Amino acid sequence: MKCDICPHNCSIPENRYGFCGARKNAGGVIVCDNYGKITSLALDPIEKKPLYHFLAGSKILSVGSYGCNMKCGFCQNYTISQNKPSYEYVSPERLLEIAINTPDNVGVAFTYNEPTISFEYVLDCAKLLKEAGLKVVLVSNGQINPSPLAELAPLVDAWNIDVKAWNADFYSRHGGDFETVKRIVEVASRTAHVEVTTLVIPNENDGGGEIAALAEWLAAISPEIPYHLSRYFPRYKYEAPQTPKETLFRLAEIAKRYLRYVYVGNV
Ligand code: SF4
Repeated sequence: MKCDICPHNCSIPENRYGFCGARKNAGGVIVCDNYGKITSLALDPIEKKPLYHFLAGSKILSVGSYGCNMKCGFCQNYTISQNKPSYEYVSPERLLEIAINTPDNVGVAFTYNEPTISFEYVLDCAKLLKEAGLKVVLVSNGQINPSPLAELAPLVDAWNIDVKAWNADFYSRHGGDFETVKRIVEVASRTAHVEVTTLVIPNENDGGGEIAALAEWLAAISPEIPYHLSRYFPRYKYEAPQTPKETLFRLAEIAKRYLRYVYVGNV
């Protein structure tokens, strides 16, 4: 059986999991095995997603499950993306109830781990949330195939999409596809508010030419797209020291040649 959610297009034998560890061949059917299995739930400032130009100053109920369709050794959230921690089952109806009853909440952000691998859950929740007039936010690595994206995109109000590097080799070394992430940013920005984030890692993606090329490409979609340069800290399999603040500010100056809104985060 083949899963067609993301560019891995995994062929999954009976009772085995795909690359992401979240989808499974159960009796000849591909199922979303992490459906409703919530590992993290918190009311966060929307700026923490980060979204700086969408309902600024508001708070949003943020949920995550487990698994990821990339395998980044520097993952800042590896405890849930690369492991299967304890979880609580939260049905879409229950999530809606929590969202409605949380004071000052504007909607639900699917975040912390990669939400698109929980495709059916996100879709079911998003339909209920939209009907109730709440906002739907996705924080994603942008690794989703065109067909599931076409189904999901009309239900999403805002995305923060990781463009991890301007480098196809970087993507293939970390289990992703460079062309896919570029297409997602282009498609999502036609129907929703989009902001883009790059986690800057020393000696991996901190070249000025690379950030300039990324910013120039983003500006061709729209120079108004907010761009976040985020600071890496040693985690998981990477022991390189945290990104120097000077590197982030230098890269921000380069990105500002092309984009109107450039922010440096986690400094
Ligand atoms: S979502 Fe998971 S199972 Fe499906 S193709 Fe991607 S990595 Fe494979």
